[in-house]
Amino acid sequence: MSAELRSNFLRTQIQGDLDAGLSGPVITRFPPEPNGYLHIGHAKSITVNFGLAEQFGGRCHLRFDDTNPEKESQEFIDSIQEDVRWLGYEWHGEVRYASAYFQQLFEWALHLIDEGLAYVCDLSPEEAREYRGTLTEAGRNSPYRDRSTSENVALFLKMREGEFSDGERVLRAKIDMASSNMNLRDPILYRIRHASHHQTGDEWPIYPTYDFAHGQEDAIEGITHSICTLEFEDHRPLYDWFIAHLPVPHRPRQIEFARLNTSFTITSKRKLKQLVDDQVVAGWDDPRMPTIAGLRRRGYPAPAIRHFCEEVGTSRSDGMVDMAMLESAVRDHLNRHAPRAMCVMRPLRLVLTDLPESMTLAVSNHPADPQFGERQLRMDRELFIDREDFREEANKHFKRLVLGKRVRLRGGLVIEGERCDKDSDGTIVCVYAKCITLVPGADPEDGVKPKGVIHWVSAEHSVPATIRQYDRLFSVADPARADDMMSALNPDSLVVSDDAMIEPALRDAAPEQVFQFEREGYFVADRYDHSAAHPVFNMTIGLRDSWSGSNG
Ligand code: ATP
Ligand code: MG
Repeated sequence: MSAELRSNFLRTQIQGDLDAGLSGPVITRFPPEPNGYLHIGHAKSITVNFGLAEQFGGRCHLRFDDTNPEKESQEFIDSIQEDVRWLGYEWHGEVRYASAYFQQLFEWALHLIDEGLAYVCDLSPEEAREYRGTLTEAGRNSPYRDRSTSENVALFLKMREGEFSDGERVLRAKIDMASSNMNLRDPILYRIRHASHHQTGDEWPIYPTYDFAHGQEDAIEGITHSICTLEFEDHRPLYDWFIAHLPVPHRPRQIEFARLNTSFTITSKRKLKQLVDDQVVAGWDDPRMPTIAGLRRRGYPAPAIRHFCEEVGTSRSDGMVDMAMLESAVRDHLNRHAPRAMCVMRPLRLVLTDLPESMTLAVSNHPADPQFGERQLRMDRELFIDREDFREEANKHFKRLVLGKRVRLRGGLVIEGERCDKDSDGTIVCVYAKCITLVPGADPEDGVKPKGVIHWVSAEHSVPATIRQYDRLFSVADPARADDMMSALNPDSLVVSDDAMIEPALRDAAPEQVFQFEREGYFVADRYDHSAAHPVFNMTIGLRDSWSGSNG
């Protein structure tokens, strides 16, 4: 884990609490709702919460905030745990569930009723909205606000027994219908919902709201710092109100920071779900998705994602982070950690007319790091080079193979273009070249050095592969703001090719292993689809930022 301890205001506040006498370890939590896969914004929250716990020698809980059974599922619970672990974090103790506290929350709701601080309200949702007032106008008291304690208890118990239908009644806190903070205008604590829950089955026909559940869950778990995003800032007085009026065992403190928004990206589970449901992408872990599972399948290394999250820092004001920053973190990491290999994307046959016999070349796996070792490559009389690497004639800016000109083949020999064959359409189908040097790495004796290096594979000893070239899913910098997210899609975000030829050893790539295909970019063996019989590589990222200048 990176030990880079950037100073940020969250650290400062926690340190301040410790200095002011907060005793015991710092305990944070990451509290996802299991209603979708985690995305890059959640990665930020994970690194913040787990990172702070780590920096202060405390602990971090993973708690599913599962109070909305209809939208949640076991698939999401499983994927979230897998993603947190893959990012490199381990939560303290068992996985926790808000639903495990339903009985305690229910008892605390009864406590508020007993204290005259909560009541059962029969207003319809439309009426309740009307009574609530507006930002500029105070709300009005519900006609049910002054029910007796015994009537409230009886009604709430009936709600719990499932005697009413969905939406018929709610339990509300009795705070202040004239408060300038709308969240304090008698907020709802419980709703009736006859819905089966993935953890508690049919035990509960009523479910607590986020506001009533979250702070109390924190208090039950002894969370010291409940870190959330800025949209909850206006909920903090309510968070504190519950903690002040309930016999909770601990007094957590809520601190907000700005959400991470990255350009060209959607970070809303609801919208990502729409992309999945409408089959715009192949699933939550489609490599174009900004989900952690998608980034993983794309070949983005977890340390690069963590590094990016640290680099962007935490702030109190919303902004947009350039996606190029994440891409650059990925490129930096892979440049250091990915072995090199060769893949010819658009194969063109090259015949070395005077190669006496096949040779075996030792080619280094990393130009800067000898620890990667070497591999043996067969240099045969017939090779494949990339179609883009040959021209019959070209000016001096084209540093590849040209008739009558020299180029070096990666790993050794210098060759010179002689002639080419074309089919009846004029398409070049084969290039012939002679060998100027036969000693790997040697320079030509006549002193005419080649200007460039091109990659190649043996025609006989290479194997075909499927290559999925990915690009950004959206072609506008702020797709979340687009009137229609679908119209902001990049039509060329996926191009699949079955033409590529790869070095034979790449068949044995482990799933999720990333290589730099020389001169092409970084590619990962697909986690699910790659096999020795049918190699499949996903493009992780190009060697250079091809979007710079267009990042808005
Ligand atoms: P979404 O809108 O995508 O559903 P959410 O906030 O509803 O996001 P949760 O499952 O409730 O999703 O989020 C779990 C935690 O992750 C919360 O503490 C939330 O504040 C945090 N989080 C979610 N999105 C971001 C983001 N873009 N940047 C930083 N933290 C985030
Ligand atoms: Mg949420």
